[in-house]
Amino acid sequence: MRIVITGANRGLGYELTAAAAQRGHSIIAGIRSAKPEGKLLDLIGRFPGQIEAVELDVCHEETVAQLAQNLMADGQAVDAIINNAGILLGRGVSIEALQMEDVTRSFEINLFGPMRVIKHLLPLVPDGPSRAIINISSEAGSLSNAYGGDYPYAISKTAINMLSKQLKKYVRGRGIRVYALHPGWIKTDMGGEKAPGDPVESAQGIIDILELRKDIDPEHFFINFKGEPMPI
Ligand code: NDP
Repeated sequence: MRIVITGANRGLGYELTAAAAQRGHSIIAGIRSAKPEGKLLDLIGRFPGQIEAVELDVCHEETVAQLAQNLMADGQAVDAIINNAGILLGRGVSIEALQMEDVTRSFEINLFGPMRVIKHLLPLVPDGPSRAIINISSEAGSLSNAYGGDYPYAISKTAINMLSKQLKKYVRGRGIRVYALHPGWIKTDMGGEKAPGDPVESAQGIIDILELRKDIDPEHFFINFKGEPMPI
C-alpha cells in the first residue's frame, strides 16, 4: 500500500510512519521542513526505499498541489491518506477571552489542511474497499460529549467529522472507505506526559484498520483506533 501521512515527523504521525514501514508499506511522509531530520531521518535509514519524506505544509496549498503533481507525473497511485497533522490551541479559554487567531489557526490546520490534501490527492486514489482516507479527529469533536470551553480545537474536530461524513457519501460509489478517527488520549507533545495512551499502540490499530483487519460496520464513520464507534 502507498500511504500519505501528514505531520509525519513527530507524535502520532511519526508512529504511523514507523508502524506502516514495519508492515512493509511504502509511505509518503509529509513534513513542514524541506528535509527530514532527527528520528524521522533515522527511520528512513532503517527502511531503505520505503519512506519518502516530502515537504507538505497543510496550510500551504501549493505544497499539496506539488505533491499531487509529482505523483501524477510518476504515475503513482495513493492507496490511503492519513490526515494526521493537527494543532491544539486555546483549550479552556473562555469565550470572552478567546483569541480569534487561535480559532482561525485551528481551522486552517485541523480542517482546511485535510480539505486541501483530499482536494488534490483524491484523484490519485483508485476505487475499492482496500483504499481509505482517515482524518484524525478527536473525542473532543463529539457533539454528545461536548465538555465546554474548548472552542478552537473541539469545533475544528467536529467540523472534520462532518467533512468525513460528507466525503464518505461522495466516494461511496467508488468503494473508498472514509473515517474520522479518535486516536485515544496519547503521550505526544500534544497529549502530554499524563496521557494514558501509547501512540505506538494507537498507530498499530490505525494501520490494522487500513489493512481491513478490523470488523467495522460500514455505516460507522466516527471510530476510535480500535475500530469501535465513537458517539457523534
Ligand atoms: P503533536 O503536536 O505531537 O504533532 C503534531 C504534528 O502535526 C507535528 O508533526 C506537526 O509538525 C504537524 N503539523 C502542525 N501543523 C502543521 C502544518 N501546518 N502542516 C503540516 N504538519 C503540521 O500532535 P499528536 O501527534 O498528538 O496529534 C496528531 C493528531 O492526533 C492531531 O490531529 C491531533 O489533534 C490528534 N489527537 C491527538 C490526541 C492526543 O492525545 N495526542 C488526542 C486526540 C486527537 P511540526 O513538527 O512541523 O510542528
